[in-house]
Amino acid sequence: TQFSDLGLAAPLLKALSAEGYEKPTPIQQQAIPHVLAGHDLCGIAQTGTGKTAAFSLPLLQHISQSSKPLKPKHCRALILSPTRELASQIADNVKSYGRFLKVSTTVIFGGVPVPRHEKQMLRGTDVLVATPGRLLDLIDRRALNLSDVDYLVLDEADQMLDLGFIHALRRIVTLLPKQRQTLFFSATMPKTIASLAAQFLKDPIEVSV
Ligand code: AMP
Repeated sequence: TQFSDLGLAAPLLKALSAEGYEKPTPIQQQAIPHVLAGHDLCGIAQTGTGKTAAFSLPLLQHISQSSKPLKPKHCRALILSPTRELASQIADNVKSYGRFLKVSTTVIFGGVPVPRHEKQMLRGTDVLVATPGRLLDLIDRRALNLSDVDYLVLDEADQMLDLGFIHALRRIVTLLPKQRQTLFFSATMPKTIASLAAQFLKDPIEVSV
């Protein structure tokens, strides 16, 4: 299988070849066509499997093809990550895969002065990569509103729970439109994670690599 067999648009294929990616990894092969078709997805995958591209590429394609205008203080795709390191890695990847598209990406996490993030949110951003605590800070300060989010990605769900983000996650999800596409990734799927996935996802495709 080649990336061009998965239904990805030309600007994304161009970015992938600029990255030096020759062919899709198993999770990319299994996930990308379903995510492009609009399905929710529950993936059991470790870091290193290429899961970031598996969720970022279809998300970028959807966002770039949507004619919905971006409003100030809003975002259209929300990617939640447990740590600042992971959040910035994801944002770097999204920016690089989207370099031939007109898609804006912003990353926010704790430890950076909040006013800086408030200012960054003023214009809105197509893709927002965030850690849960800082995201809620910005919402509580009315610097950000999640009512236009069409895509939610929860990355490293097991690590989010280990870090005590369960209440933050539940609150965030109540602030999102019910009509959305949700992608859920975890390295492990114990009962607590599976029940969280069952609450957040609708008829998900399940992928395990
Ligand atoms: P991830 O599992 O998303 O953290 O990705 C692990 C690493 O694999 C990252 O450095 C990616 O840049 C790289 N990568 C992802 N997909 C591919 C691919 N199809 N071919 C080569 N490298 C890839």
